[in-house]
Amino acid sequence: MYYNKNTIVFFNGEWKEPKTATTSLYDQTLHYGNGVFEGIRSYNTVNGAHIFKAKEHYNRLHNSAKKMHIKLNYSVSELIDISYELLKMNKLTNAYIRPLVSLGPNMTLHPVEKVNFFMCAWKWDRYLGNELLNIMTSSYTRPHPKSCHVDAKTVGHYTNSILATTEAKEKGFDEALLLDVNGFVAEGSGANFFFEKDKTLYTCPLGNILPGITRSTVLEMAHELDIKVVEKHFTAEEVRGSDAAFFCGTAAEIVGIASLDRVSFNMKWEYSLGYELARLYQQKTHNKAYNNFELV
Ligand code: PMP
Repeated sequence: MYYNKNTIVFFNGEWKEPKTATTSLYDQTLHYGNGVFEGIRSYNTVNGAHIFKAKEHYNRLHNSAKKMHIKLNYSVSELIDISYELLKMNKLTNAYIRPLVSLGPNMTLHPVEKVNFFMCAWKWDRYLGNELLNIMTSSYTRPHPKSCHVDAKTVGHYTNSILATTEAKEKGFDEALLLDVNGFVAEGSGANFFFEKDKTLYTCPLGNILPGITRSTVLEMAHELDIKVVEKHFTAEEVRGSDAAFFCGTAAEIVGIASLDRVSFNMKWEYSLGYELARLYQQKTHNKAYNNFELV
């Protein structure tokens, strides 16, 4: 699914076939979960493949690595160049790009000198699909910001996301909405969260969440469209039965939510601010004129 016989990946400075890009079973990342990564998308535009917010993603990778005491031996501009080369070599335009910095063999809990840098890309549909989602408030809390750097995109944090998504699916929901340590709404398992009430959008402030690049784009677009956004802490109770809601993330893009804990949102998604933002997001990622744009 992620590669075929023609796929080329970048691994420790070399272009390789995925099967030959291998690492050790004694790697610290495999045993203890310390590694950092990114999830990036490129889109087919009139000017060819365009990586959306490449600089922002690679700045975040650098920040994540620094916080986790991981060496990242490539600059942001080198990482962008490798990404475009990767797309070219794999003849991809609409693609998901996954850079991963993992740590070499070491069974101690000390920072590791040897790092592996891997980058691959594949064609991937919108992560949460195109349908409106029915979500539940998770019984799992997002990691405590004093236990780890929640703003770093660290491999090990995703065990929390996997538990929350698995619980939601087992209970018949599409996705989970996780609370922070204080019981306020934080984010989804792999996306940030906004809800709409009386023509205003609400999202939680930074601090207990991954600072999403799509979240920032939503804030920029809301400013452009003169949509009022309030960043504040709120409870799941305030969200249930409000007008509308959506998740946003690089893989998920902007995806509407039909209900939280089986309580439907009041407004038809097509009339919501989220829908309008989703249309503009499509236009921005594809470099198309907003007015002529048909949502696909
Ligand atoms: N929160 C979490 C936990 C995520 O994994 C993601 C996806 N990277 C996001 C939010 C959204 O971040 P972005 O918009 O940068 O993809």
